[in-house]
Amino acid sequence: MSRTISRAKYLRQLYPYKSPSTSIDHLVIGGGAVGLSVAAELVKNTGRDKTTFLVERRGQLGQETTARNSEVIHSGIYYPLGSLKSRLCIEGRDLLYDRCKKLGIGYKNTGKLVVATTESQIPYLQKLQKHSRHSSFLTNSNDIESSKIHTKFLNGEEARELEPDLSKNVIGALLIPSTGIVDSQGLVDSLSREIEESDYNIDDFSSSLEKENRGEGIIVLGTRVVRIDKDPKDDSWVIQLETNWEGLEEGQKGDVESVRAQVVVNAAGLGAVSLTEGVVGDQDIKMYAVKGNYMSYKGPGVGNVSRLIYPCPSANIDHLGTHLTLDLDGNIKFGPDVQVIGTWEEAMNNPDFWEKHLSPSDSPDLISKFAESVLDYLPFINPKNLSPDYSGIRPNIAAPGSQGFSDFLIRHDRDKNRKGFVELLGFNSPGLTSSLATGKYISNLIQNDIYGKNQNGGRIGKGKEKRLEELAKGWEA
Ligand SMILES: Cc1cc2nc3c(=O)[nH]c(=O)nc-3n(C[C@H](O)[C@H](O)[C@H](O)COP(=O)(O)OP(=O)(O)OC[C@H]3O[C@@H](n4cnc5c(N)ncnc54)[C@H](O)[C@@H]3O)c2cc1C
Repeated sequence: MSRTISRAKYLRQLYPYKSPSTSIDHLVIGGGAVGLSVAAELVKNTGRDKTTFLVERRGQLGQETTARNSEVIHSGIYYPLGSLKSRLCIEGRDLLYDRCKKLGIGYKNTGKLVVATTESQIPYLQKLQKHSRHSSFLTNSNDIESSKIHTKFLNGEEARELEPDLSKNVIGALLIPSTGIVDSQGLVDSLSREIEESDYNIDDFSSSLEKENRGEGIIVLGTRVVRIDKDPKDDSWVIQLETNWEGLEEGQKGDVESVRAQVVVNAAGLGAVSLTEGVVGDQDIKMYAVKGNYMSYKGPGVGNVSRLIYPCPSANIDHLGTHLTLDLDGNIKFGPDVQVIGTWEEAMNNPDFWEKHLSPSDSPDLISKFAESVLDYLPFINPKNLSPDYSGIRPNIAAPGSQGFSDFLIRHDRDKNRKGFVELLGFNSPGLTSSLATGKYISNLIQNDIYGKNQNGGRIGKGKEKRLEELAKGWEA
């Protein structure tokens, strides 16, 4: 059956308003790395009388974009100063390394090389290095040291000393030591324990008072949000949750419960824009699903590789070129590329349409394109050994081909009758690296805007934002 209205509007027809049977304080929608980090921080910071529910529609946590990415801990070097991506990535990177060390989550600080094979690419590396030197403006004065993005400019010989498989054509490279890789499911598991187990990660509390103030955290799996309403009588939200929904035909319903929450955090990844439409009433933000294909590689020409290797990208900074990444077992893959799938209208009518695009492309043309791009810096690979591996889908909110940089969008419109509805939209890369810092950011935002507690280090103040925007200008051009 084809519908002429958006999925969000259709759901509002299918699920009429239902009075809530229970009340909680915070409801986080989405059990990916971002939603889990937000929930863990809310449990930790908002007080012992507060209850935080995290609802995840799948039967397990972290099965969507969090499970389908490069698992790179990004340094933060690519993003305009003052942007959320820059700030949350740098802060998140440091938090992630600390957490991995402390809690035994798999990770490796591999470092990364961005390589130039033509003279015309050298200015790009120089610009990147210059940009990295300004990054310390970004964070609070007490963590300037740790937030720096260290880089080292290398000539071709020096680059090949580090990575002997590199082509003789490589004439310069930028070494970025803070890049690494992480076990994303390890991160997901540790966050879910932190939400539900009061004695997990107790070292993270700076005082016993903070520990005593820990609230209650509950994760609910296999449950999806189908409707969100502002309660007309007060500032709270009424959320309808559906279980036993998988395998339903269009028009059929599972079991629906209704809960009241003071705060709703929409961290639903690829489903977030449609959920927002259901609340806001129109499509003020559009979702553009953009697929990234990976090719695995086993064979000659990479035997000594120990770092991530990126070529110089084209003008589009959202695509970093066909690069080499490693997993924690030392397996090599190339990608992701950038492949637009569907249109924003398709995403509006069926926010899950991307599921049919999940198989990685096995097009011979794509394999040739990957090979051509990689042979430029790793000349001894055998293109025949490139094999389609997996793919991930980016929840972009900027139209494909649009010029300029697209930041994460965090919205809390407390003045537009939407107080308590916090939206996290466009969490493409480096969302995994940024997840822990995003959790802290949202927890601070909620404490400021909802509970009136003034938190240091939360949101960037208006004046500072402006100054940082100016610093960013040269970079965006
Ligand atoms: C190809 C690719 C490569 C990437 N590489 C990197 C990288 O190397 N490093 C990096 O830092 N970042 C990377 N990213 C970005 C990173 O993967 C994402 O930013 C991050 O995983 C987003 O996490 P999330 O929690 O926002 O979304 P998700 O992991 O998608 O979680 C959202 C959750 O919400 C649930 N949900 C949706 N709708 C509902 C509903 N109605 N009710 C209940 N639950 C719902 C979904 O089931 C899902 O589990 C990459 C992304 C892609 C696509």
